[in-house]
Amino acid sequence: SKHRPTSESLYQEALQHIVGGVNSPSRSFKAVGGGAPVFMKRAEGAYFWDVDDNRYIDYLAAYGPIITGHAHPHITEAIIRAAQNGTLYGTPTELEIKLARMLKEAIPSMDKVRFVNSGTEAVMTTIRVARAYTKRNKIIKFAGCYHGHSDLVLVAAGSGPSTLGIPDSAGIPASIAHEVITVPFNDLAALEEALQRWGDDTAAVMVEPIVGNFGMVMPQEGFLEGLCKLTREAGALVIYDEVISAFRFHYGSAQTYSAFPDHAAIEPDLTALGKIIGGGLPIGAYGGRRHIMEQVAPLGPAYQAGTMAGNPASIAAGIACLEVLQEPGIYERMEGLASKLASGLLDSALKHGIPLTVNQIRGSFSAHFCDHPVTNYDEAQDTDGERFGKFFRLMLDQGINLAPSKYEAWFLTTAHTEADIDATIEAAERAMASL
Ligand code: PMP
Repeated sequence: SKHRPTSESLYQEALQHIVGGVNSPSRSFKAVGGGAPVFMKRAEGAYFWDVDDNRYIDYLAAYGPIITGHAHPHITEAIIRAAQNGTLYGTPTELEIKLARMLKEAIPSMDKVRFVNSGTEAVMTTIRVARAYTKRNKIIKFAGCYHGHSDLVLVAAGSGPSTLGIPDSAGIPASIAHEVITVPFNDLAALEEALQRWGDDTAAVMVEPIVGNFGMVMPQEGFLEGLCKLTREAGALVIYDEVISAFRFHYGSAQTYSAFPDHAAIEPDLTALGKIIGGGLPIGAYGGRRHIMEQVAPLGPAYQAGTMAGNPASIAAGIACLEVLQEPGIYERMEGLASKLASGLLDSALKHGIPLTVNQIRGSFSAHFCDHPVTNYDEAQDTDGERFGKFFRLMLDQGINLAPSKYEAWFLTTAHTEADIDATIEAAERAMASL
């Protein structure tokens, strides 16, 4: 079992200076019984070392971006090179074109791209562009889908807020919340009803095409095809939030993933990206059909800007990350490791009579303590959070780092090895035995 006295004391110090001791609420241990989160000081490949020199196998992957493992040499070199040439110009650079082309080639529905600094900004701006284009105000989203912390989408917003038991956020005017309609994921009839009622005022339907924020949840056959059809009939735009899903399951996005239901039948009008495309540095991007993107300044009336947007270090890291992901066999390998780990978890759970539902999509999966399928947010909420909290701590004490939330996925990276998986399965077996 790990001892973490330095994390404990740093947490006490952090509490004096940083609100809640953390710079993102999902990093706190509030949802897993409280106490000091682990302060990490170094990360390499699949491993973390904390300030007390304990080693952990990491499945958090920084909530998704670190798909090539920590400190991947190709990405690190790109960042160093970029830093040596100056970190911020406030002018266009050639490499921005390169990353834009890479994104467009991988995600053909993006005729035009704009880089921003986070997934939140990317999503926030797709909404502005959709409103500018349609001259309507309402947005329809799905319960439990998290689209960043901008006002409009922080309603019924999944993992972070729901983990903390904040269904919503204070500080969001009722007039803004009023513009958002939330329906259950995978429920086409509910969407149809919402569109019948509010379709004429709806600017866009926003969706995570593969959900990453209340577990990993696939859309059911026909759901996205129906969503796109109904949305277009209402004269609204389809926005895909692929901040988590892009480049996670294959080199491309959910839109272009051939194993994905309806992938050929659907092309969103706008797509929001982030996480992996920045190789671990801050980034976001949005893009879509040319005539819609031409709403954006300086071409059109929808304003969006950013001092840090397209900064050379983030762009260089993003290019380097995508280059790594172009190596043949990368996704298959992560999938193989994820399958082995997922079946190890299921075997242990079965052996100890613990209900567990695993949703695996290639190299990522969620593991919910429940005996029913998880296809929407209600089902994800109806899982045993207390048991997850215990499991989380038992794993942490054996050197396995998971997200401190029952909703979050486990992410395999290109750095994980068979030995890491075996060690994790053994740790999980011991944890399940004592649950
Ligand atoms: N959209 C989705 C689907 C996300 O999962 C997240 C972050 N978890 C965001 C948007 C927001 O991205 P960021 O944290 O970079 O603002």
